[in-house]
Amino acid sequence: MIIVMSVGATEQEANNVRDLIKGVGLSPHDNYGTQRVVIAVLGDVGPLRDHLMSKLSTMPGIESVTPISRPFKLASRESHPEDTVIEVRGTRIGDGSLSIMAGPCSIEGRDMMLETARTVAAAGATILRGGAFKPRTSPYAFQGLGVEGLRYLAEAGEATGLPVITEVMEPGLVDVVSEHSDILQVGTRNMQNYSLLTAVGKAGKPVMLKRGYGATIEEWLMAAEYIMSSGQPQVILCERGIRTFETYTRNTLDLTAVPLLHHLTHLPVIVDPSHATGKRWLVRPMALAAVAAGADGIMVEVHPNPNEARSDGEQSLTFEQFAEMASAIHQIHAMVRTLIKDPFVNSGSVSVGGASQH
Ligand code: PEP
Ligand code: MN
Repeated sequence: MIIVMSVGATEQEANNVRDLIKGVGLSPHDNYGTQRVVIAVLGDVGPLRDHLMSKLSTMPGIESVTPISRPFKLASRESHPEDTVIEVRGTRIGDGSLSIMAGPCSIEGRDMMLETARTVAAAGATILRGGAFKPRTSPYAFQGLGVEGLRYLAEAGEATGLPVITEVMEPGLVDVVSEHSDILQVGTRNMQNYSLLTAVGKAGKPVMLKRGYGATIEEWLMAAEYIMSSGQPQVILCERGIRTFETYTRNTLDLTAVPLLHHLTHLPVIVDPSHATGKRWLVRPMALAAVAAGADGIMVEVHPNPNEARSDGEQSLTFEQFAEMASAIHQIHAMVRTLIKDPFVNSGSVSVGGASQH
């Protein structure tokens, strides 16, 4: 349930609403990014809806009360009609511009991190990526440089002026990763690690939540809801492919997620064609397609010498390939903004769940 206070409502009137919500055992949550005071009611509203509606109808200072039909509340577009725009170190994500997150899969050393950072920055990257704590399928594979890697990433961010993003794999590492990174990344394997989601939600930094490789869009948005209800409204969603029966690609890139998410939620949507395809030559066409579908940006892996990369070399772009791709996606982006339309945004009555096989 969302309660929009009138423009001239007093703080006392808003407090009366908050007290009513708390009085029935639910939590009031102030929404950000709107001109008026907007209070979301969190908790199991169902059994209390009629009681709340009748009380609220007698209270002054309220403009409207809207039930939220989706199970994800703070993430839902119903609760926050405007797009969420995230600003990190002067770079905006979700404002209609094209975000390009680029860098190596793993930070392998200081020199390679700095060289990659300078090259991708010059070629149009807006955010620098690099893995310091690596979730690897094999315990014998390179696990990342850990805190040493975080330092190289932060230094490369300073040297280029780019904000940086890196993955945090466990709650106990959230503090140290937050000290070095502007954005916290939760990886596909941890999308439903609820203690991690709660911990990153309390860290005070924007979070990029990658889609679990076996997660539905609703499960993914419920995971975002964990982060948001823990206190962090700035969440970026990253589609990185899901597991299907197909084996020619590492995962299957679900590009329908882009318009679907823009319909369902106000959060920015990024696409990672590197992990989705697992093949370098497929990254460019899928990056173009992602931007054409309306993605707010892409994340791609780039390495000075992909054949010698310690992880994900097969899907990493060379410097030249990255520069060429960055220029190509800007051309698509320039065209697509005026063409993308969500026919349902204003009708508000379309069911997008439960598609069945025919
Ligand atoms: C990554 O981006 O470094 C990564 C490990 O991706 P994913 O969690 O999508 O596999
Ligand atoms: Mn990788």
